[in-house]
Amino acid sequence: MSESPTKINLLGLSPTKLEDFFEQMGEKRFRATQVLKWLHQQGASSFDEMTNISKALRARLAEMAEIREPEILLDKVSKDGTRKWVIRMDGGSAIEMVLIPDGDRRTLCVSSQVGCSLDCSFCSTGKQGFNRNLSTAEIIAQLRVAIRAYGPFDPSERRVSNVVLMGMGEPLMNFDNVVDATQLMMDDNAYGLSKRRVTLSTAGVVPALDRLREVSDVSLAISLHAPNNALRNELVPINKRYPIEELIAACNRYLEGLNDKRVITVEYTLIEGVNDQPEHARELVKVLRQVPCKLNLIPFNPFPNSDYRRPSEGAIQRFKDIMLKASIITTVRRTRGDDVDAACGQLVGQVEDRTRRSQKYIPVVQEEPVHGKSQRL
Ligand code: SAH
Repeated sequence: MSESPTKINLLGLSPTKLEDFFEQMGEKRFRATQVLKWLHQQGASSFDEMTNISKALRARLAEMAEIREPEILLDKVSKDGTRKWVIRMDGGSAIEMVLIPDGDRRTLCVSSQVGCSLDCSFCSTGKQGFNRNLSTAEIIAQLRVAIRAYGPFDPSERRVSNVVLMGMGEPLMNFDNVVDATQLMMDDNAYGLSKRRVTLSTAGVVPALDRLREVSDVSLAISLHAPNNALRNELVPINKRYPIEELIAACNRYLEGLNDKRVITVEYTLIEGVNDQPEHARELVKVLRQVPCKLNLIPFNPFPNSDYRRPSEGAIQRFKDIMLKASIITTVRRTRGDDVDAACGQLVGQVEDRTRRSQKYIPVVQEEPVHGKSQRL
């Protein structure tokens, strides 16, 4: 996105903020509904397209505001249909986003920050350090880019059926912008996705989880990755501040009052010899009994300069079987898009880094899905 500091980017205004914006202009609040539809359902990129708005108002809008989108630096389709984009944001930094088709679902994995401050030991985004938060407009622009990649906007088509905030960054460390973006995703005048189809994934910023519940009922995934605090402190350092028992308690508070039988998705990256042993599985059962949840096992995806390895298929299956025997709903996430470096934990964003990486990177070739059945994110 090229910067234009004097103009407000309308892509970044939540439904309420867009209403406020029109009110401040001395206009009726319902203008917000019209403009939301133009922006997010018709994919308008100029005010001239907004034909149910008077020319005079369009001219005023063009003076004060803009519709600013990122530049697409790279657009790659994997042999399994997974599509990855690298897009350039304000100030020149780049982020990655991934669309994962799976039957009639097309799940967009969206980034919320450039880099990440949490430094989880198995995640390549964390290894880059933290650059900055994405604005609401930059988060929403990822959806627009993905929708438009398949032709002119057509609200009757659900080109993106699900959004997961599982790309680069920790969404709860960019609280306001992420909340505004998820509101746009779920608003009927914008992308109209149900709250079950928008999932925020967090490493467990406990106070922010409580705040989130006050303003949103988006679906929740937590990155657990370890069944006890000693191990989780190593893998997910934020655990030292908010240990497992506090995180589980926060999840239960989050579900309270939702009244729709929703559960938390627990993500657990399986790393050979680190957290993939039967005793880890048995300990995990005890933790997961404390909260309504389903478990998503994610075989580790390697990246350069990491000593971790993906467990064998046998070890993955053994872990899964222990969970299933304990009646924990468990799926194994298939590795998707690894031929275009689009798999979980491989997103890095910087084009320069990627170039260097393609020279160093030895992909783990995996012809068959880890788990035969198609994976629900
Ligand atoms: N910060 C948020 C959102 C980032 S997505 C969070 O921690 O939830 C993070 C998810 O990506 C993790 O839960 C994990 O499932 C996955 N992930 C990260 N690095 C990975 C790797 N190297 N291999 C497999 N999955 C990884």
